[in-house]
Amino acid sequence: MSTPNVAVIGSLNMDIVVETRLIPQIGETLLGERVRFIPGGKGANQAVAAARLGAVTSMIGAVGADAFGDELLAALSREGVDISGVKRLPDASTGVASIYVAEGDNSIVVVPGANDRVSPADIDQHLDKLKQADIVLLQLEIPVETVLYAARTAKSLGKQVILNPAPARELPQELYGHIDYLTPNRTELGRYAGMESETTRTSTGDFLRSAMRRLKDLGAAQVVTTLGADGSAYLDEAGEVRPVKGHAVSVVDTTGAGDCFNAALATALAQGEGLEAAIRFASLASALAVTKFGAQAGMPTADEVRQFAA
Ligand code: ATP
Repeated sequence: MSTPNVAVIGSLNMDIVVETRLIPQIGETLLGERVRFIPGGKGANQAVAAARLGAVTSMIGAVGADAFGDELLAALSREGVDISGVKRLPDASTGVASIYVAEGDNSIVVVPGANDRVSPADIDQHLDKLKQADIVLLQLEIPVETVLYAARTAKSLGKQVILNPAPARELPQELYGHIDYLTPNRTELGRYAGMESETTRTSTGDFLRSAMRRLKDLGAAQVVTTLGADGSAYLDEAGEVRPVKGHAVSVVDTTGAGDCFNAALATALAQGEGLEAAIRFASLASALAVTKFGAQAGMPTADEVRQFAA
């Protein structure tokens, strides 16, 4: 099999995680216990995961000319991700997620900063990365206009396109028609299918079948829904739900599980695997990802997935 080549177009964020005993009220100042700076952003997480899983990986995105930007780029470079498509903006801040954690609850403020400035012109400027790729991997933490342009361009180049439609946003109808694999989680599936009220943690096969069929009717060629510890599901050619079991593991941190799943799916498909085999690989990889702390730090290597599968 040839070396898989994945182009990730998406966000880079620094997660600033502040642990406190209480979430501060308006106007209140508290002393916190601990602060951590954790590289994140769905785009960057997926790029790190794809690289660790053995794909030649390039990233298109944007950071500010600040210290967080330096750190995020260094983290990607260390993993072997080609960052020549990540621009540095002198007049924007690097994307930040400011997260307060108190006794298991959290409150989060995300400032997209430079991520909001990833534009269709950036796709044109780095067309070589799309041309070299077997598969283009997209999420929704950059402007939807850019995601649409990237998907349309990738399809015109004959490439496969995965859209991880997270976080849930309003999508133009045209976008669905450029997507080979749409990969919502259970909640996003309900939102996009207009079936939010029917989405529950124990969503039945009926819900999955109707909701996934709706997204196919909107134009997505295939829908793969992730279901947390329950695994994932896709529709077969007859439009019936095919579940793929998750793997029982000791959970340490589920942040980035979805990102790992998407990157692994992309890597396996880029390698020429069929959908069912690619989903099985993604289930193994993402189960391993939840056994370690940190989104990027917890991404497994191809060898680790092979050992886990054995
Ligand atoms: P996140 O936002 O936390 O990154 P997500 O909501 O996008 O996750 P999930 O459906 O929670 O995505 O998880 C993605 C995949 O990760 C699942 O399909 C499954 O394969 C794996 N996974 C998630 N949680 C667990 C778990 N507790 N045990 C085993 N595998 C898990």
